[in-house]
Amino acid sequence: MLHTKCPNCGGEHIEGFFEIKNAPIFSLVTVKSKEEALNVPRKDIELGFCHSCGFIFNRLFDTSIDYFTGGYEDQQGFSKTFMEYLTGISNELIEKYNLKGKTTMEIGCGKGDFINLLTNLNGGKGIGVDPAYEEGRQTNPNLTFYKEFYSEKHGNLKASMISCRHTLEHIHGTYEFLKLIRKSLDDSMDTVVFFEIPQISRILDIQAFWDIYYEHCSYFSAGSLARMFRAAGYEILNLRLVYSDQYLLIEAKPAAVPSTRTFDIEESIEEQKARVENFKVKIREQLDDWRQKLTALKEKGSKVVVWGGGSKSVGFLTNFADIGVIEYVVDINPHMEGNFIPGIGKQYKSPPFLKEYQPDAVIIMNGVYQKEITQSLHEMGVYPEIYAL
Ligand SMILES: [Zn+2]
Repeated sequence: MLHTKCPNCGGEHIEGFFEIKNAPIFSLVTVKSKEEALNVPRKDIELGFCHSCGFIFNRLFDTSIDYFTGGYEDQQGFSKTFMEYLTGISNELIEKYNLKGKTTMEIGCGKGDFINLLTNLNGGKGIGVDPAYEEGRQTNPNLTFYKEFYSEKHGNLKASMISCRHTLEHIHGTYEFLKLIRKSLDDSMDTVVFFEIPQISRILDIQAFWDIYYEHCSYFSAGSLARMFRAAGYEILNLRLVYSDQYLLIEAKPAAVPSTRTFDIEESIEEQKARVENFKVKIREQLDDWRQKLTALKEKGSKVVVWGGGSKSVGFLTNFADIGVIEYVVDINPHMEGNFIPGIGKQYKSPPFLKEYQPDAVIIMNGVYQKEITQSLHEMGVYPEIYAL
């Protein structure tokens, strides 16, 4: 299945520029055995660049599969660094948009960590919508969960803010999704909409191939995201990069007439095109470089582990599974311990495992956590060589 039209703007001049063969189609799903992990279906990824709006998407993405209902683990709240970030953002939104005591909604709320945090901080009520929500994960009586895909009927639930974090990148019909939310706001034009997503420009600039995996079909930059929000009937209130430029945040509200307000960080389509051209050359070097490093570790007989499960480890390991140097992946999320990595078949361990395993090298999947992780390693008396992505 090749998508020939841009899901953001409908443009038909799409240029394929990067392929990953045989990527596991699930990376966050819970898998209890090695066999099951190795049996996760694989499909090819081909990133396409839209010359009309600058959007990047997997143009081979299979939209017939339900990626969410099977249950997945994606909680990041076990990291102190992450919680500090999230608390800061929440307090800022509450202050800026007068959300004290108000009802807010989150689309794609996962296990409900963010809506719970926000509701605790604003002293209001919270609504979470997500087919993968698990009963009992949250016990806050001010929260209501709908274990469903977001649809038109949820538009009747009124909220002062609708947030949607790390969800849009999983949605192929991006413009339609924004329009669906926008339609529900015709009679509540003061509602603020807040989205958080990974951003592609950084991935292109540093060739962060570990951030490209099957479940992410849509890859936004400040420019392509802003252009789509305006086209879907929103006025953008704020647009910025956070978390070492890994995440893109947008705050918007419904616009009565088409908005022309733009932000400095919106890159032009030409700039993005140049970025894609640069990526095409540099990604080869980057992949060769890692292959050499890992092969050298294998030849030395080093014990190598990856720290940080989830999609980044799948994205990283998909490219080097054939070398066979990595036996374990460590993650601080206790719900992942003992599970196997989809498509890769390696087992998740919790950090104390490293005390007995004494790895020679640890590859950290997100450099933002390097300090926190290095400290944990040293506290356990483990002093490996450290690589950080
Ligand atoms: Zn487009």
